[in-house]
Amino acid sequence: MRRPFIAGNWKMNMDRAGAVALVEGLKEAAKDVDYADIAVCPPFVYLDAVAQVLKGTNIGVGAQDCYFEEKGAFTGEISVAMLKDVGCQYVILGHSERRHIIGESNELTNKKLLAVLKAGLTPILCIGEMLEQREADQTFDINAEQFLGSLAGVSAEDMKKVVIAYEPVWAIGTGKTATPEMAEEVHAGIRRLIEFRFNKEVADAVRIQYGGSMKPGNAKDLLAQADIDGGLIGGAALKVDDFMGIIEAAK
Ligand code: PEP
Repeated sequence: MRRPFIAGNWKMNMDRAGAVALVEGLKEAAKDVDYADIAVCPPFVYLDAVAQVLKGTNIGVGAQDCYFEEKGAFTGEISVAMLKDVGCQYVILGHSERRHIIGESNELTNKKLLAVLKAGLTPILCIGEMLEQREADQTFDINAEQFLGSLAGVSAEDMKKVVIAYEPVWAIGTGKTATPEMAEEVHAGIRRLIEFRFNKEVADAVRIQYGGSMKPGNAKDLLAQADIDGGLIGGAALKVDDFMGIIEAAK
């Protein structure tokens, strides 16, 4: 039985006071949750403040990205050691906004993922097809290509620590959610791919989150699917009640 994992991706939203207020509220609301792992991923500049509020609680902290080099002349970048230093346990990698707006490749995502694993943090690797790719029947190929490319050189032992987030790009922030059946079909395909690339033990262990307009109202049906082990939540992670509604749906 895989333990559900609900993570909030705040993206480029909120100011410092809003970030602290949100986690103060969440800390209280989620204090009795013992059936799921929970994390929030604020912007870099608020990680420290958020991690201080959440210290010693059942809510983890993640970053939305990182750089793969350990240190040096990389203006504007943030290393994994810096993230660890401010209390991060997770790093989101390969989010569709980084792939499609910033232009990040599987190769770059792979370098970052290897650096995160090396530092002992947990990568949340996002993969997902765009609408035109789904309509052209390329859903499986695109997800397989992103999965295999981003995980090059990862050992079976390390793979057990990776979290995959399947996020159909057409469902992110659009209000359009994949139906539970559509999502489950891809999740089951990703699990078969993990078995093919690694082995059955790894495939049974890896948690695969769904992301794309997950809300309190649709979370229960999505999370009831056999291969959906949690959610990566954007918009609904910005309000305590909405995020808690999703966490409670994972019970
Ligand atoms: C996301 O940003 O990863 C996401 C799934 O966003 P939303 O829940 O807003 O669709």
